[in-house]
Amino acid sequence: MSASDKILSVEHVHADGWGFSVECPHCHAIMTIQGQGIEDIQGEQYQHYLNGCGGWIEVSNTATLDIELKEPA
Ligand SMILES: [Zn+2]
Repeated sequence: MSASDKILSVEHVHADGWGFSVECPHCHAIMTIQGQGIEDIQGEQYQHYLNGCGGWIEVSNTATLDIELKEPA
């Protein structure tokens, strides 16, 4: 019950294997968002329900996609 009731917007989205990951602005843990393309998740609201967070986020319409560099296998 530490999360704010406010919906906090997220500006940075990272590509993940099956979707996207963002840093939850409430608890600063990484949360995963399912989606095909960044256009699908921009402007959408999600609740971070892990870690007892419960905070709501909104992916900004202007959120940018940061491709995470992977170490060569
Ligand atoms: Zn959180």
